[in-house]
Parts: sequence; structure tokens; C-alpha cells
Amino acid sequence: MALPKDEFELFKVFLREKTKGKPFRCPVCDSPNWSVDGPVVLLQYNTELKTAVVGGGGIPLITMVCQNCYFSRHFAWNPIVERKVHFSLPSEDSSG
Ligand SMILES: [Zn+2]
Repeated sequence: MALPKDEFELFKVFLREKTKGKPFRCPVCDSPNWSVDGPVVLLQYNTELKTAVVGGGGIPLITMVCQNCYFSRHFAWNPIVERKVHFSLPSEDSSG
């Protein structure tokens, strides 16, 4: 599932802030080229039935896939989206 443009921009800002502008390189092949997808949902796993719980709860994740070796990384999406609320608040009192 493609990430909507505004959420993709939010994720890019988040990643740029966390990496302090350094290239985010693949730990397997050292490529800096990734595709971003999501949010996807990590399914819960039922230990008794030894199977994923389709339609059950899960954790929304952003997936980054290396465009060279296809190694994937995940970021928890909810904390990033929650930050968006703080970003959108006025930074100064404009009542003066
Ligand atoms: Zn790679």
C-alpha cells in the first residue's frame, strides 16, 4: 500500500531528524536507496494455533525496503503520526 503524499513527507522529515541528515544506509549491502511503503500491519501471532490472527489486532508499521538487496526495516507508525499533531500546533501566540 502506497503511503499518502503528506504522510510520506512526514516520514521523510522524521527520518531526516533522526539520522541528522546522514544517508540511511542498508546494513546488509550499504546501499542508500530505499522504497517506503505502509502503513502495513504486523499481524498478531496465536501461539496456541501457531498461526497469524487474520483480522485481529496488530501494530501499524512503515516498511523500508532496500532497492538493491531487498532487506527490510520497520518503524512503528503511531508515535510518528502522533508527532504530526504536535507539528501542526501554532508555534507562537498570534494574539498580540
Ligand atoms: Zn541492501
